[in-house]
Amino acid sequence: MISVEKVTDGLEAKLMPDRRFAPRCGVCGEPAAYRDTRPLRRFRHVPLWGIAVWLIYRPRRVACGRCGSVHAEAMPWVSGKRRFTRALMVILATWARILTWQQVATLFGCAWSTVAAAVGEAVAHGLARRDLSGITHSGIDEISRQRGHVYVTNVYDLKDHRLLWSGEGRARKSLAAFFDWFGEECTARIEGVCSDMWQPYIDTVKERAPQAVLVLDKFHIVQHLMRAVDQVRREEIREKARNIRSS
Ligand SMILES: [Zn+2]
Repeated sequence: MISVEKVTDGLEAKLMPDRRFAPRCGVCGEPAAYRDTRPLRRFRHVPLWGIAVWLIYRPRRVACGRCGSVHAEAMPWVSGKRRFTRALMVILATWARILTWQQVATLFGCAWSTVAAAVGEAVAHGLARRDLSGITHSGIDEISRQRGHVYVTNVYDLKDHRLLWSGEGRARKSLAAFFDWFGEECTARIEGVCSDMWQPYIDTVKERAPQAVLVLDKFHIVQHLMRAVDQVRREEIREKARNIRSS
């Protein structure tokens, strides 16, 4: 790092490559020959006392002998083409365990989809180091944003209270994608599934894990009951109003 500068939207930390070392290929990680330097990029980093922090860097491209092609160099602070640093993604995912994803997005001034991606990365990171064969009870839940126009299906390990998998949508194929990923062997060990009262989930669990006892989530059953009670109440009020008018 060479300098830190105050700018209108926070602090900018300008990074310079360490010329004692050859750049590494962003695809295979091997040291490779310098090819050219790309335009300046700004990466959002962990805020400092509430002040936004940006890492500024001009990524280089390398001609990689191993890959046999030109790639962007490896930048250890960021994964793929993200605009957020790895450290910030970890922080978003950590907060998302306590707050709703929308609250985290508001708190950090980022998109909901960035929080969702951070959680996805954290889950993938955890799962890569984890044995799935001991999972016997799972829970399925959906979350929505944009007033119910966009859905995400989450699957939890109920014994560990940990998020196992997260995927877009709430259709049969969304949950089917979980079972594809989880594998037949692990699915066969599932004894119980807790799900909310959503027919595509119920159908998919019956089809893919027929041995599992399906428990419908108490919270959602209560919600449905309350809605039914409300409906009856509204009808009664309407009925009374009609009676008053006609009497
Ligand atoms: Zn390479």
